Amino acid sequence: MKETSTVKHVVVIGGGAIGVSTAVHLLRQSVEVTLVTEAGLASGASGRSLSWLNSAGTRTDEYHALRMAGIERYRILSTQYPDVDWLEFGGGLFWDGNSAATGQRHEAETAHGYSSLLLDAASAADTTQGVNPDAIPEAAIFNAAEGWVSLPHLIDHLMEEFSRRGGRLVLRAGRAEVLTEAGRAVGVTTESAGEFRADAVLVACGPQTPEVVAPLGVHIADGSPVSMLVITEPGDHEVPPVMNTPRVALRPNPGKTLALDHDWYEEHITEHADGSFDVPRAVVDELVKEASDVLSGTPQLVAASWKIGRKPIPGDGEPVFGELEQVPGCFVAFTHSGATLALVAGELLTAEISTGVRHPMLETFRPERFARQERRTA
Ligand SMILES: Cc1cc2nc3c(=O)[nH]c(=O)nc-3n(C[C@H](O)[C@H](O)[C@H](O)COP(=O)(O)OP(=O)(O)OC[C@H]3O[C@@H](n4cnc5c(N)ncnc54)[C@H](O)[C@@H]3O)c2cc1C
Repeated sequence: MKETSTVKHVVVIGGGAIGVSTAVHLLRQSVEVTLVTEAGLASGASGRSLSWLNSAGTRTDEYHALRMAGIERYRILSTQYPDVDWLEFGGGLFWDGNSAATGQRHEAETAHGYSSLLLDAASAADTTQGVNPDAIPEAAIFNAAEGWVSLPHLIDHLMEEFSRRGGRLVLRAGRAEVLTEAGRAVGVTTESAGEFRADAVLVACGPQTPEVVAPLGVHIADGSPVSMLVITEPGDHEVPPVMNTPRVALRPNPGKTLALDHDWYEEHITEHADGSFDVPRAVVDELVKEASDVLSGTPQLVAASWKIGRKPIPGDGEPVFGELEQVPGCFVAFTHSGATLALVAGELLTAEISTGVRHPMLETFRPERFARQERRTA
């Protein structure tokens, strides 16, 4: 789109954290928004995300800068709403049982100025609360600047503003497809709610994003695995930091519950023909037991609910943001770290959609890189 862009109305497909965030940012710029989603809000990855706000580990400078900007936006939100129970910055504790690898991770983090304390077991136990000191191996990393958010709560919060600013919400629309005329996006058509015309369309469909743009002749490589999030029953355990350990990742969750995640159980998940998933209860209980073992006092935890579905991960692991070169007026947002990035991505995409000016921080993450890769390998 050109710098003279006069976008007045945008249809956003996808009621997850990124679609809702972008919708609200567009409304703040006085752009009219119709938010269309297949089922309910937060019915995709945002409804079952660990949503650890971080830029930990090894990554490119560009991706790190974007994630740090993402964390900063949550810091601002946290300052504005200090009393909410769905957004906290209690730090993150990491260990993987391999001291050499932990040391390398710490070096990579400090190399780009990320707050990263390499601790022995005793100091790690002293630095954090709620953690079982016996579970900590010889080396662990504490990242003091990290936090977590509950995305369904964030979505509720943003939707209050969406309604106040006059956004139009279309729930249970069934699958939406992008409509084009003369190669340009002009709106969307849906299975159950009809057609919506607009000056631009944002496809923020989480793991479904590649299949939504495929009919437009656009290839985005997809590496989205199946994953699960378990929520525990409320308990009186101390509130731990976000924890990433070899057998469980966990974070606090509103209502004195915990959210648990990992990937070792992926092979136990069965996908059915209708697209639903199942996992044996014993696997859920094993994950819960792993969580109990890393918490102080090894509390009796019980799984209250669990959700399974695809975790959005582009084929090369990097985010995909921006306008499709082949389909002007159609923008995409597809990323693994969508919890960390939700607020900043909404803001930067809004700037691009409403002004037509490409934002330099998104330049590395353009969708057309996959087409170029295909051409190179052809
Ligand atoms: C288990 C797990 C752990 C994670 N951990 C982290 C983490 O620690 N830190 C982090 O930053 N991120 C994490 N993520 C990733 C993050 O949660 C996602 O990147 C983010 O929630 C994606 O939001 P979204 O709005 O892009 O997509 P989604 O939340 O998936 O929303 C997309 C919406 O679009 C709808 N939709 C799809 N196709 C169509 C269609 N054709 N028509 C209409 N509607 C459609 C879906 O129904 C859905 O509601 C994790 C994800 C999972 C699943």
